[in-house]
Amino acid sequence: MDVNLVLRSTRVITPEGTRPASIAVSGGTIAAVLPYDAEVPAGARLEDVGDDVVLPGLVDTHVHVNDPGRTEWEGFWTATRAAAAGGITTLLDMPLNSLPPTTTVENLRVKQEVARAKAHVDVGFWGGALPDNVKDLRPLHDAGVFGFKCFLSPSGVEEFPELDQEQLATSLAEISGFDGLMIVHAEDPHHLAAAPQRSGEAYADFLASRPRDAENTAIENLINQARRLNARVHVLHLSSSDALPVLAAAKAEGVKVTVESCPHFLTLTAEEIPDGATEFKCCPPIREAVNQDALWQGLADGTIDCIVSDHSPSTTDLKTPDFASAWGGISSLQLGLPAIWTEARRRGFDLTDVVRWMSEGPARLAGLTRKGAIEAGRDADFAVLDPEATFTVDPAELQHRNRITAYAGKTLNGVVTSTWLRGERIADHGTLAEPSGRLLERNN
Ligand SMILES: [Zn+2]
Repeated sequence: MDVNLVLRSTRVITPEGTRPASIAVSGGTIAAVLPYDAEVPAGARLEDVGDDVVLPGLVDTHVHVNDPGRTEWEGFWTATRAAAAGGITTLLDMPLNSLPPTTTVENLRVKQEVARAKAHVDVGFWGGALPDNVKDLRPLHDAGVFGFKCFLSPSGVEEFPELDQEQLATSLAEISGFDGLMIVHAEDPHHLAAAPQRSGEAYADFLASRPRDAENTAIENLINQARRLNARVHVLHLSSSDALPVLAAAKAEGVKVTVESCPHFLTLTAEEIPDGATEFKCCPPIREAVNQDALWQGLADGTIDCIVSDHSPSTTDLKTPDFASAWGGISSLQLGLPAIWTEARRRGFDLTDVVRWMSEGPARLAGLTRKGAIEAGRDADFAVLDPEATFTVDPAELQHRNRITAYAGKTLNGVVTSTWLRGERIADHGTLAEPSGRLLERNN
């Protein structure tokens, strides 16, 4: 085996823990994780990153790239540059907000063609489950999508309607027929409709319009359907910590349910959001500090499997100060790792926990067996982090297209010094290489 690169650090995070090591890379794959002072094979280049920590490249399974169709909101070029700069080496694109949405094989091919030349990191696709595309689900599965997203309440774009409970059952039955995965935006439409709806700049009014009950009920219904149909389901962007006991009980009982939460729910609180600051608007919403504490408990005890960005940008004109009408979505692709590391560290967690939540967990969710860990046989994808360094978020330094972010002005721990994709450095102190990402399809 021809080793062409050795990446050396005093702190490499492997599945067995953090240790000094030299990672031997051959043809883009990790050949071996060797002792720190292992001899560098003839012909191999040594890259010694000193005390910076080498993490497996992050896997972000929840990104709205919006390309083609709403490329002015975000695109594959800008989104994957932001990912690379932030230590993410694999992202999965959500099926909506692009035009066309990823709801037929033909549409998937359109999206893949657009992404191919622009991808700075590896890119895969989720399909979409709509009321009228049940016949398209199996062909999409066969074409390599990683699973199917559905909404249970209005999605925010008219071309991606939600499923009612009967339609959810029909789609879930179809998808479980080929052991596929349904990923669900779980807010119950009846609870949303019953909540007070007031427009204006007050965050408290917006929060009241998206109550915890909407999430709790939708999640309970989803668990019931998953149990009845023996289907695999995944709860997207969990905000309401009230749902954690029900989720934990379902998992313990053997229901095939997994859960993600997002950096904004875990690092930002309703109490700190200024009125009119709609860069903080997303659905479900950022809730109170006490809710956030419970979400961290859910991470600690394993009820929450992963942390992913739900990066969902728009143009600045759609972020009006009125919370009711502003576009809902938070842009954080480049900042997820330092945001989570800053808060995790404050709460007594370490970087191995962060790796479990942001690399290993999402890779497992998507069945990406070559990603998510530093061990022989996996892709040589790395995020190199100076965990002690701090920086203050300047939107002008972000790579995503519309430089709006809820993190502006925050001082965060953890600077990504370089990012590596299949043994090639794709980001170096914020300077990005030419695109070398590949389009991924589900393994099986
Ligand atoms: Zn989303």
